[in-house]
Amino acid sequence: MIIAVDGPAGAGKSTVARILARKLGFLYIDTGAMYRALTLKAIESKIPVSQEQRIIELAENVRIDLRNNADGSLTVILDGRDVSLDIRRPQITQFVSDVAKIRDVRQILVKMQRALGERGDCVLDGRDIGTVVFPDAEKKFFIDASAQERAMRRYKELKGLKQNVTQEDVAKDLSNRDQIDSTRQASPLRKAADAIYIDTTNLSIEQVVDKMLGFIK
Ligand code: C5P
Repeated sequence: MIIAVDGPAGAGKSTVARILARKLGFLYIDTGAMYRALTLKAIESKIPVSQEQRIIELAENVRIDLRNNADGSLTVILDGRDVSLDIRRPQITQFVSDVAKIRDVRQILVKMQRALGERGDCVLDGRDIGTVVFPDAEKKFFIDASAQERAMRRYKELKGLKQNVTQEDVAKDLSNRDQIDSTRQASPLRKAADAIYIDTTNLSIEQVVDKMLGFIK
């Protein structure tokens, strides 16, 4: 069974998708982490995001593995190296949407995501899971929250990771990524017609997960 979880940045998708996968005993696949890992590789290779052809070549040759750990956390491995923390750096967040809007890059990563999804029951979170990656997913959710609430949640999360950011920076980053993600030509962020919409602005993580479980059971 495939469960697709889409929505804008900071809506709490990854948190609820990870908990949901754990409760169901499913594999959790964070597709945003894959775009982030490729962005890290581009930055480390000193390739500007404007050089699309070179980024596509990187994508063709990259190896990205996602490992679900027993404690519920996710390890992201880029060409054999653990980059789970590196991919959360502000510099990666700043450029990831420019990498993710390249059509051929998406094709390559979508292929990887489908291969991972074919391993068995899984929960995937991203922007285009229900619309493009697995349009036939058995259950689809679109997780949303007000822009203000999303910025506040992301700010707290980054502070928890000891990152030196201001609330204003975070709000700006989210609105910039929302803009690029929802207006790009290649599979823009949008709710699949058959996805269940959940506004999480006034809900706790547990309440969201319970709602989702209710729809699945
Ligand atoms: O989920 P996260 O916020 O970590 O994703 C980082 C970025 O990767 C998004 O802002 C978006 O540009 C891109 N992305 C995407 N398609 C996905 C998952 C993420 O374009 N399925």
